[in-house]
Amino acid sequence: MDYLPLFLQVRSQPAVIVGGGRVAVRKVNLLLRSGSHVTVIAPELREELHELAERGELRHIPAKFEPAHLDDAVIVIAATNDHDVNAAVSAASRARRIPVNVVDDPALSTFIFPAIVDRSPIIVAVSSGGESPVLARRVREQIEAILPEKLGALARFMGERRKAVQRALGIAARRPFWERIVGGIVGTRVLAGDAAGAEKAFESELRTSHLTTSPATGGNGLGEVYLIGAGPGDPDLLTLRALQLLQQADVVLYDRLVPDAVLDRSRRDAERVFVGKEAGNHTVQDRIHELLVYYARKGLRVARLKGGDPFVFGRGGEEIEVLTRHGIPYISVPGITAALGAASYAGIPLTHRRLAQSVTFVAGHVLEGDSLDWRALAGPRQTVVFYMGVSHLDRIVAKLREAGAPAAHPAAIVERATHPEQRTLRGTLETIAEIARKANVTAPALLIVGEVTAFASTDALFTTDARKDGSMSHGAFV
Ligand code: SAH
Repeated sequence: MDYLPLFLQVRSQPAVIVGGGRVAVRKVNLLLRSGSHVTVIAPELREELHELAERGELRHIPAKFEPAHLDDAVIVIAATNDHDVNAAVSAASRARRIPVNVVDDPALSTFIFPAIVDRSPIIVAVSSGGESPVLARRVREQIEAILPEKLGALARFMGERRKAVQRALGIAARRPFWERIVGGIVGTRVLAGDAAGAEKAFESELRTSHLTTSPATGGNGLGEVYLIGAGPGDPDLLTLRALQLLQQADVVLYDRLVPDAVLDRSRRDAERVFVGKEAGNHTVQDRIHELLVYYARKGLRVARLKGGDPFVFGRGGEEIEVLTRHGIPYISVPGITAALGAASYAGIPLTHRRLAQSVTFVAGHVLEGDSLDWRALAGPRQTVVFYMGVSHLDRIVAKLREAGAPAAHPAAIVERATHPEQRTLRGTLETIAEIARKANVTAPALLIVGEVTAFASTDALFTTDARKDGSMSHGAFV
């Protein structure tokens, strides 16, 4: 390590900044945020600094730098564009053993500023030791993206309750308790901005804390379930919250639609349990319910990963009924449903000012005695997306045609949407079933019906999709 990382307490302490230009503004703002008393030495001030001085938020000494200006300072920054002045500030500071930073000049500095992510009181500081501030900033951006927006609120929430927990729990129980708070329902509620829900959940956790110590400590209390939408396949389409919860789950229950690439985003030591089912197999769904309850009762944090969105043809509703009946707390996290993923990756706008004023998601597999209003679905200027319909294409097309949809009505099939092998086939109601047969389309795939499916091929912006799909897509387009 070339530098010692630390956080310096400068509240109410005198800080001196030499220079009154643009660079100085940034440093002044940073120092003011950390509560120090700022003095700026500069013959002239930029407008922003001038205003701060007028409001009394900083002290301005309108003079050329002299070493005596540093007398009380606990920290010094040189931010002029004159090398000689900067060097003089550096030398004078060193002589007084005051930490000094010369902006963009590590050689003249005794400390350097990190790139920061500020979720006060949580602060992440990143440094490249002066080698590459650009790289440090990029790392900072990556961290920024994964840290929840309300992380600071969570830290404060916990800070405010530390005393109460100290009173209620013995030393050994505290850490597992806080782990549960951070990683569980309470933490998730705070991060979601639900203060009242968090408070209620916290009180109940504290009341039952003797039951709910984590399995790592041998406890055997009540766990919780995260019902997570895994999106249509591309792991980059997971939400940030899905990632955060996957990272803390002890067990992951997943089904056929969840690819390895998504599973790999879960904690390495988490137990993975396959609960896939073939269409219409009800006993498997019962088994899933049993497993959810079984693992949660063991005190584990259970991620139930479901393809797409849990509440779109996903039986998420049944699972939360079961959990509620058993008093098991759960969090549900939405996912990108297949229709949205497919449409986006195939360049098909599901609604369009001219072509489609509404979009309908339909389950295409229960056609016997279905209660669908086929007349309404067959009408113009709308988009209809059929899930689970590939093996019933002929029936779906026939129903739409009977209900009055024209033979030339555009339709498309998107197979394995957002996966690397995604294929998009375009045609009309007359041709699409045959095109699918020839191309040997298999599940998972969606049938999208509506004028918007012809839109992509007429718009230059979307030609990449046609190219990726190869000649099939071109050949199939009518
Ligand atoms: N809850 C899921 C849907 C489950 S039903 C969601 O919100 O997406 C299963 C059906 O979804 C499949 O038969 C198929 O029609 C569709 N589907 C799921 N993933 C898909 C994908 N990657 N590409 C195309 N269709 C998909």
